[in-house]
Parts: sequence; C-alpha cells; structure tokens
Amino acid sequence: MGNMKASVGADVESICRKCGDVWHVIVAMVEDDIAKVQCKQCNGLHKYKDPDVAEAEAKTKATKKPAKKRAPAMTAAQKKAAAAAKPKSKATVAPNLKLPTKPYKFSDTFVSGQRIDHVKFGTGVVEDVIDGGKIEVFFPEGRKVLAIKKPEATLATLGDSRPAWLDDLKTIKSE
Ligand SMILES: [Zn+2]
Repeated sequence: MGNMKASVGADVESICRKCGDVWHVIVAMVEDDIAKVQCKQCNGLHKYKDPDVAEAEAKTKATKKPAKKRAPAMTAAQKKAAAAAKPKSKATVAPNLKLPTKPYKFSDTFVSGQRIDHVKFGTGVVEDVIDGGKIEVFFPEGRKVLAIKKPEATLATLGDSRPAWLDDLKTIKSE
C-alpha cells in the first residue's frame, strides 16, 4: 500500500503503544512519506510506522529463529467486511467469568472471552485475537481494536534498548 493520498490531517492506521489504539492523524509529512502521527485516543505523538511494514521488519529480524507460520493477514477489504458483519450493540463473545479481568497492557496477553479494563474505555470483553498482534474488544461505547505485543516480533524489536513507553504504562496503570 502506498501513501499516495496521505496528507497532514488525514486519518491513518498505525499502532499506539501507549493505549493500543490504531487510529491516528497524520501531523507531519516528509516528501511523500508520513513522518509523524498523533493517536486519536490518547493524543500521543509518535513516529509513523506502517503496521504492515513493522510486521515485515520484525519477521526479517526474527529470521535467526524459526518463526511460527501465521495465517496470511487479512486485506483491508476483508477486515472491513468482517467488522461490518458484527453487531454494533453487543459483543459477539460472552465474557468468560472464570478468567480474571485484566487491565489493558500492551505487553500482556489476552484470550477470547477475557474481560479487560481500559483506562479510557472501561471494562470490555475480548472478542478476537487478531494475528497475535491485535485484540478486538467490545466496550460499552463500542468495539475497539487494541494493539498487543506479538510474542516473537516484539522481542526482536525491543532488543537492546528499553523504550520509554514501558514506564508510561506503569503510570497509566496506577491511575
Ligand atoms: Zn494512544
């Protein structure tokens, strides 16, 4: 996917590691490339990373270890169709009351049916784990897609330096 139509102020899909939202607004362009985006949920500013490119890079870095085969990612059109097929007013999955309610954390893992506490959206139910790197959660105000750590990919990405957002997560959690 090219960024031919990208311009400052336009919506773009990226991943916010602070709150997990995927919807961002472009705030800076360098020639034809998106340089900086702002998260629509927490207003966090960060460098733009195309979610598909980030995944490809992570795969390249992880080539030393045999990577588990994943199902091919859905195309944007397939994603839209899948989202449209779901009811807007109720969760597609019943909450699994045997599982503990977990606070949303980028670095945590979640399963379908798990209840989740989010600082902004409240308590929701995980409907789907998408390709290991996103979860679809039904909150009282609607369905949200949140980013979560991909077990292999993120280990390769984090590597040597500890990112600042890890500390931010602690702050959010203690609120
Ligand atoms: Zn955010």
